[in-house]
Amino acid sequence: MSGTDEALRMTKGTLAVLINSTQQNWLPERWKARFDAVCGGRRVVLLPDSTLDPAEVHYATVWKPVPGDLGAFPNLRAIFNLGAGVDALMADKSLPDVPLVRVAVPDLTGRMTEYVVLHVLMHHRQELYLRDSQRAKRWEPKYQWPASAVTVGVMGLGTLGADAADVLRRLGFRVAGWSRSQRAIDGVECFHGSAQIDAFLRATDILVCLLPLTPETHGILNRDVFTKLNRNGPLGAPVLINAGRGGLQNEADILACLDDGTLGAASLDVFVQEPQPADSRFWTHPKVVLTPHNAADTDADAISAYVAEQIARFEAGGALENVVDRARGY
Ligand code: NDP
Repeated sequence: MSGTDEALRMTKGTLAVLINSTQQNWLPERWKARFDAVCGGRRVVLLPDSTLDPAEVHYATVWKPVPGDLGAFPNLRAIFNLGAGVDALMADKSLPDVPLVRVAVPDLTGRMTEYVVLHVLMHHRQELYLRDSQRAKRWEPKYQWPASAVTVGVMGLGTLGADAADVLRRLGFRVAGWSRSQRAIDGVECFHGSAQIDAFLRATDILVCLLPLTPETHGILNRDVFTKLNRNGPLGAPVLINAGRGGLQNEADILACLDDGTLGAASLDVFVQEPQPADSRFWTHPKVVLTPHNAADTDADAISAYVAEQIARFEAGGALENVVDRARGY
């Protein structure tokens, strides 16, 4: 870094907040107020702002900006995504070549682990069957296996997957995990790469997907994968839980596999098309538990503080954390 770059880095640059106006419940004014509160006097500007000199903006914090919008700032030093998944941003081929930081905070991780545990337990404890029985006034308990008889396979052992795997293990489940590179998590049987995916799937009764959406993972949840899951486990037919991204799943395959018994049930938080159209079969399928992409909401307090701390550390000469590897796509 040259002396001029170093001097620039230490200037208290303006933070631009850019939230796509089509995003329901994102309340841009509320985000601006949170950033004002935690940024220690730094200028925070909510875009669009016609009075703003684009050269003044050194940082942008964004959620699904319109492709090309970030190209307007010639002195941008870093982009902070307001969520963990950066697939929407990575699709913008004109994204400025500056560090792109994603969210990894305990608040979001805890929320996702709650979702995963809720849905694993729901299927493990036969809740769909029991609620059906209640509606039909049918007193017909089925044998309830212990958690130790069930293997939960977690695809993606990053910030979110590793935490969910650890909590599931502590609940007594057998836990397997699959990632791109080799990982080690106490009490979790870790698999990695394409060479080990079949062994991972064969062991799995409940498949939890917490992968990022990249060119490599696009459509990975398909019939080929579902047919390799364990069919001899206590649940009978295996279960799919996807809270990663809709683009990870082949939705025609999921419906066909639910219909023909290849899958016993599915919990889906994410879809190729969001919101789901009224005529989607996912709304009414008896084996589907649908949630509207709210497995782990972004909390403005936790995440504005995370961004403000990162900027302060960066301007003090420290490194940014959780920078996306653009070549990998996550
Ligand atoms: P991380 O980047 O921390 O972890 C990603 C994990 O996926 C890593 O273990 C990585 O492997 C693995 N992975 C990536 N590509 C591959 C591949 N080709 N083959 C095998 N494994 C792969 O991400 P997070 O855990 O923070 O988040 C995961 C995703 O969760 C986000 O990208 C987002 O899409 C989704 N999400 C959904 C939310 C919701 O509300 N539904 C909320 C927040 C996030 P390795 O360890 O080797 O790098």
